[in-house]
Amino acid sequence: MSGALRLQGQGNGCGYATGPAHVSTEPLSPRGDQVSPSLEFDSLDRAIGESVAALESLMAQTDPASADILEFQIEMLRDPVIAEMAAEQIGKGQNAAFAWVAALEEYISGFEQSEDDDIRARAVDMIDIRDRVLRALEGMPAADFPKGSIFVGRDMAPSLFLAHDWTGGGGIALEAGSTASHVALLARSKDVPMAVGIGSFVVDPETPVLVDGDSGLVVVDPSHADIAVLAKGERTALPIARRSEPAVSGIVSRNAVELLVNISDISDIRSLDPRACDGIGLLRTEFLLSSAADLANEEKQFQLYCEMLKWADGKPVTIRLFDLGGDKPLGGFGVEERNPFLGLRGIRLLLAMPVMLRIQVRALLRAAAFGPLKVLLPMVTLPGEVEDTRRIFEEEAAVLADRHIAISMPAIGMMVEVPAAAIMLDTFEDADFFSLGTNDLAQYLTAAARDNPSVVDLYRQAAPTLLRLIAQTVAVAHDMGKPIGICGDLAGDPARLPSVIAGGIRQISVAPSQLAAVRTVLEQAGVDG
Ligand code: PEP
Ligand code: MG
Repeated sequence: MSGALRLQGQGNGCGYATGPAHVSTEPLSPRGDQVSPSLEFDSLDRAIGESVAALESLMAQTDPASADILEFQIEMLRDPVIAEMAAEQIGKGQNAAFAWVAALEEYISGFEQSEDDDIRARAVDMIDIRDRVLRALEGMPAADFPKGSIFVGRDMAPSLFLAHDWTGGGGIALEAGSTASHVALLARSKDVPMAVGIGSFVVDPETPVLVDGDSGLVVVDPSHADIAVLAKGERTALPIARRSEPAVSGIVSRNAVELLVNISDISDIRSLDPRACDGIGLLRTEFLLSSAADLANEEKQFQLYCEMLKWADGKPVTIRLFDLGGDKPLGGFGVEERNPFLGLRGIRLLLAMPVMLRIQVRALLRAAAFGPLKVLLPMVTLPGEVEDTRRIFEEEAAVLADRHIAISMPAIGMMVEVPAAAIMLDTFEDADFFSLGTNDLAQYLTAAARDNPSVVDLYRQAAPTLLRLIAQTVAVAHDMGKPIGICGDLAGDPARLPSVIAGGIRQISVAPSQLAAVRTVLEQAGVDG
């Protein structure tokens, strides 16, 4: 062993990595305050200006008929009435993207409802400029770091993790953080070695660092002997191509247990054979967003959902509404709260900001016309939240049907991750199905934040409580005649899985990297129907 600096934290069980340190100097994910009205005006103004310039340069290279369309679009972009409507929305507290969408929405539906064919055709041109400005509004992505580095910092924003290409190896060493946080969950799903809660330390950029995700050990400037010890343990050093899952359709369906997959990133499906699972049990849509402008971009959302359905090839795809808030703020969006895990999170935030919810609802209704899509509501506490959301689905379905747009009403289910909802499950008649979110259920049951290393032991000891509650909840769901599954991390823990199955669960959804291990446990448990 070397005399190098050695720090002990908690690991994520994903092997080890070595690489040069990338020392993060960035503040943790931008959170809180809505950007000021003047900044919102400025960014909308800049985005419109960029869009006009792009259309003008297109006009210079095109034929007269196309130039007419472009001229109309430029005129609309410069229309002072639209600018005033957008300004009014910003004055009411909307960010630039939502203000722009709201201002154009009235125009678009006015054009769509016209009796005149030519005017109706203009709606498409308006949708085009709406989306062009939204694209221009997309914020700069967070600064990435070189492939193969070890990210060293206080904590790491999920969006930064997702923006990075991990196929070249690398790992994460965090001074704070917890193995139950969202970024840890993402790291596990991609097999990226990670150690959290190692305490503060100083390391120069580019210094070699070793992260052992199995033991939680971090070594700054490791010796060959340090690395050899880990290599002898026969764990595979990175780079990490996704461990390819063998095709197993027969094995999954032989069992009475449906085995689905949790997807947090579009690259998850691109590297996974759909035959390895029975469908998508949880799509965390909040991780598919690269900026606040994406929240307003119905078209982009629709395309992403359709891509999931296409990949699943007829198997069910359960798409969760944006679960923003808590440790998942989206830059420039949301509200400043002293205790965000107990505040406007998940469905609470969506119902408080219905413009955002309605856009996602429309994208989902449209995508549902193309395959077996189901919708999952995050952080539900009271039956009224499900009822209000369903009403919004019905209203938006009526609007789209009036516009002759193909839609289908999906099944609407809810996450069971707030204890009040789990205990009162029988009152949620309006939900079509249930999915147990044990990650949050554990934190709210133990009053121990999932991202706080000081209380991680309490959090971990929630398993017996969870198992008892799961058994009770499953019994109630069965009495109600409603399907219930589990998509929290407890389902992917081979040691707990037999107890989960014994509790009556017959549908589990786990990270792609856990599919193989879970399948083995199911086979050993012989849970044939
Ligand atoms: C959960 O809370 O268990 C869950 C699946 O949702 P997330 O981890 O995204 O909060
Ligand atoms: Mg949750």
